[in-house]
Amino acid sequence: MNPQKKNLPIALTGDRPTGKLHLGHYVGSLAARLRLQEECKQFVMIADAQALTDHAHEPQLIRAHILEVALDYLAVGLDPGKTTLFIQSLVPALPELTQYFLNLVTWNRLKHNPTVKLEIQQKGYGEEVPAGFMVYPISQAADIVAFKADFVPVGDDQLPMIEQTVEVVRKFNRLYQKDVLVEPKAISSAQARLPGIDGKAKMSKSLQNAIFLSDEPDVVRQKVQRMYTDPNHLRVEDPGKVEGNPVFTYLDAFGKDKEKIAELKAHYGRGGLGDVAIKKYLMEELLEFLEPIRKARQEFAKDPGGVMQILRKGTEVAIEAAACTLREVREAMGTNYF
Ligand code: ATP
Ligand code: MG
Repeated sequence: MNPQKKNLPIALTGDRPTGKLHLGHYVGSLAARLRLQEECKQFVMIADAQALTDHAHEPQLIRAHILEVALDYLAVGLDPGKTTLFIQSLVPALPELTQYFLNLVTWNRLKHNPTVKLEIQQKGYGEEVPAGFMVYPISQAADIVAFKADFVPVGDDQLPMIEQTVEVVRKFNRLYQKDVLVEPKAISSAQARLPGIDGKAKMSKSLQNAIFLSDEPDVVRQKVQRMYTDPNHLRVEDPGKVEGNPVFTYLDAFGKDKEKIAELKAHYGRGGLGDVAIKKYLMEELLEFLEPIRKARQEFAKDPGGVMQILRKGTEVAIEAAACTLREVREAMGTNYF
């Protein structure tokens, strides 16, 4: 860890290694992480243990995606000299902290976490929800608290997790009368949600409406061609709807020339600008945005051993940082017997 970063605030985030990262992840969290690595001591966790809470039947999928996600991180510009990249399941203090924190929340509170409720519904679990999945917000609280994170950049679906973490921190500090744990603050991304190419509210790999950071140019072109626009914009001369039109949402997020985008929006709105033309412009802009990422990814992919070595080094740093917090936690509880 860079000693100059000693007194900087700490940021923690992560992703589940269940798939490659897409443009939604970029606007939702990667862009913020690139900023934060300049201003904070940043930890970025590959959350394999959390992924197992609903993927226990396919650990090989998780194993394979550890490298893929690490490649995405390095390709977008997360710098291991500035950001500690690590693997969650290799940090033993995390499950131990989770165990203690589980005693500070009620089952009733867990059942009412809105994000978990929605996910249980989406996954069709009903009463058959894995117990590990049910309590994953507390494991997430342990991740955040273990690194004494001041900031957690998140999409809006993760806000209930930060709220839950703050509750755990307050309860712990009050109960054991020590200000050991740090209350995290969520940093909400400016554009909380990127829609899918099908116009659905959220780009998501399981909805198969995502453009991945690693997609080849041809795949990007095909996906943009298939994009949902304004269904009532049937003829070029008709006025089209800009609001809720994902082509313009993507241009807002990834286009460089804001003036040109404003002009295109006005033109589309009054009629005379076709979907083919705006998609062609979006294609160019997206390909330009993705090209350096794809190139960098290809370079890193030539040396998977080197990438795993980066993760190993980061994980060693994470093990030490979390162990330090765990020692303080045990001290506060008076369970430091020897
Ligand atoms: P899955 O289909 O398995 O749910 P996903 O593609 O939706 O995968 P997640 O792993 O659920 O991706 O997303 C991790 C985090 O990335 C989310 O909590 C959210 O903060 C952010 N994120 C994901 N998709 C988007 C999106 N479309 N826009 C903004 N942020 C996103
Ligand atoms: Mg999701």
